[in-house]
Amino acid sequence: MINLRSDTFTQPTESMREAMAQAEVGDDVYQEDPTVKNLETLAAEKTGKEAALFVPSGTMGNLISVLSHCGRGDEILLGDKSHISLYEVGGVSALGGIHPRTLPNNDDGTISIELLEKGIRHPDIHSPPTRLICLENTHNFCQGSPLSPDYMGTVRDLAKKYGLKIHLDGARIFNAAVALKIPVSKLTDKVDSVMLCLSKGLSAPVGSLVCGSSEFVEKARKARKMVGGGMRQAGHLAAAGIIALNDHVERLEKDHENAKYLARHISRLDGIEVDESKIKTNILFFKLEGFDGNAFLEQLEKNQIKILITDTEEGIFRAVLHREVSKEQVETVIETFKSIWAKR
Ligand SMILES: *Cc1c(COP(=O)(O)O)cnc(C)c1O
Repeated sequence: MINLRSDTFTQPTESMREAMAQAEVGDDVYQEDPTVKNLETLAAEKTGKEAALFVPSGTMGNLISVLSHCGRGDEILLGDKSHISLYEVGGVSALGGIHPRTLPNNDDGTISIELLEKGIRHPDIHSPPTRLICLENTHNFCQGSPLSPDYMGTVRDLAKKYGLKIHLDGARIFNAAVALKIPVSKLTDKVDSVMLCLSKGLSAPVGSLVCGSSEFVEKARKARKMVGGGMRQAGHLAAAGIIALNDHVERLEKDHENAKYLARHISRLDGIEVDESKIKTNILFFKLEGFDGNAFLEQLEKNQIKILITDTEEGIFRAVLHREVSKEQVETVIETFKSIWAKR
């Protein structure tokens, strides 16, 4: 099976399984798990932050970050295609009483600086106070686009001017750093907090981290406990995360090349709309015209290929490249598309 539905489908490597089995562990709620501490130190170093906190999922990492920056009745500004807005069950409002104000995302995942500035509330008896801007890098639903350090710096300057904080949903922040050929800290130094995922593309089975100042992480630790994310001998999971950060970042380049290669070849087929020049990382969306989406998926599945349909009416599909899809398998996918086209 060639699974292109997400980069979360990777299995842990042999070395991860071994490290997990042999990890030295303790009770992490008491902050006595040495392997969790090692992972947190490593993540803080890489992102250039004072501290980090290991959490079970990216969704929880984003939630507790927003809870740590904001109180009930505060407002956050975020993109209308952001993961926090679309795919996190409305947790910030349901659990935090925090008001999300969405602004349109551009195709490259940015939000216009002008709209951001206009979106910041002035003190007024009718308005919730704006506290936080949330960015996403890479931007999942904007073709996996990386946000540049320049753009992020401009947002930071705006946030400073108005006394706001910035949280970065960096589920795939290492994909951004690799695509831009810069150290990840050149992106994370523009924000107050960042959430990054170990289980997206980096092949760890479970886990994310939130990184920021020591004060922020202390608040986040308490918020994590509140939402049930305090874990005990979590070093067994953190052990895989250490390998993810040390050994699986540089190879993301291959996934990016494979995504571009796939986009280039399928764009030549009649009725497939995808712009290779917009593919910068491991995610590509394409639009299918004149072909029933579900029939197309069925044909692919018959050939042992799985991809995701994200909009059945519009015929929009997402393919995500990762460690377990080789260049040869990408060739197989292209050949399969061609043979489906030939029979159309
Ligand atoms: C997957 C993802 C998350 C959430 O991570 P989970 O571990 O699935 O909860 C957050 N943000 C983005 C951009 C993602 O792609």
